[in-house]
Amino acid sequence: MILVPIFCRMRCPECNTNFPAEIIKSTGSGGVLESDLCYRAGGIFVYPFFVVVCPGCRFAAYHEEFVFLGEFPRYSHYHPIQRVLGEFLRGQRRLYPGSEKYRLAAISMRRKKTDVLQQAHLHLRGSWCARQEGDAAAERYHQEQAVRNFRQVLQESCGVEAAVASYLVGELCRRLGRFGEAEAAFACVEEGTLPAWLRPGFTAMRERARRGDSAPQMLPGD
Ligand SMILES: [Zn+2]
Repeated sequence: MILVPIFCRMRCPECNTNFPAEIIKSTGSGGVLESDLCYRAGGIFVYPFFVVVCPGCRFAAYHEEFVFLGEFPRYSHYHPIQRVLGEFLRGQRRLYPGSEKYRLAAISMRRKKTDVLQQAHLHLRGSWCARQEGDAAAERYHQEQAVRNFRQVLQESCGVEAAVASYLVGELCRRLGRFGEAEAAFACVEEGTLPAWLRPGFTAMRERARRGDSAPQMLPGD
């Protein structure tokens, strides 16, 4: 299944600005999973399209938090509205690449509520976007923030949630080259509590941390 962005009008819930946006609603299927759980499918890197930034006040969040005002009709490529719309959206992509959208979304969320697990996942997705953009500094920033948030999550979670959060702390520390911390986090993972699909990857990444290997990896299957 090839995913394509939906061109639509949105209203900001914070400042009521109406503006054009491009969103995608699904991660697609039949794809591959990287060792930090970045899922790639659908022929397009979807994560930047999940978050919307208001051009009026820079409030940023998943698109579901904005008011959906409707899709744009399909204009011909040469239609003046299409040209203006395309220019606006290209400008927004330059201003707000995915890694920046997720940074702003984490800031917007911190102002409104303290859902640390959601913040952790915003930073995790931000690190995937930064990797896609080839922006190593932004990838590192998001990985460090995600590690901090997942560690906070671990103070009050148990079961599968805790096992996956520990795995992610270990894997992100491995990617950051903090191998001692990675091994300590992996040592806290109860392998039997991890989802079955993640167990082979856990064993492989723990071994790579032991060998001091920080390279990105694909997640091995069963
Ligand atoms: Zn706004």
